[in-house]
Amino acid sequence: MTEPRVALTSSPQETEAAGADLGARLVPGDVVLVVGELGAGKTTFVRGACRALGVRDLVTSPTFTLGQRYAGRIPVSHLDLYRLATLEDEDPALLDDYLGPDRVAFVEWPEVAEHALPRVTARVHLEHAGGDRRRIEVRAG
Ligand code: ADP
Ligand code: MG
Repeated sequence: MTEPRVALTSSPQETEAAGADLGARLVPGDVVLVVGELGAGKTTFVRGACRALGVRDLVTSPTFTLGQRYAGRIPVSHLDLYRLATLEDEDPALLDDYLGPDRVAFVEWPEVAEHALPRVTARVHLEHAGGDRRRIEVRAG
């Protein structure tokens, strides 16, 4: 994955399919940053990626926790750091349960933690493109 891949989707299902395309290519240890404003489709994209990784649970926004962990063909973490203002006051091990060489991790709102994230494999940018349309760009770490 060297060239950025751009997809224009017109429905949540199509965004899930774009997520599945990426998910199918991931290996344990991969970390994927998922960037875009509220409602851009970050969680929808991650849902599709999780399905391709063999996750059967319902994948929803981690609202009251920093993240969710799912069993799959490869174990998956889904972090949402929206409410995390800074990592400075936090336990340095805060993210450890979600990251590791044996799992794939997706991180929404990663900016606050970027320096603490190992091996970023891919960055996904999602943007509103009018109505239900979304522009999705996937580029290598
Ligand atoms: P985020 O995690 O970026 O805040 P979500 O994935 O939780 O966004 O929500 C996206 C919302 O937009 C959902 O309600 C979804 O049904 C809707 N939606 C409409 N069109 C699309 C599309 N093409 N791709 C993704 N989501 C879409
Ligand atoms: Mg979300």
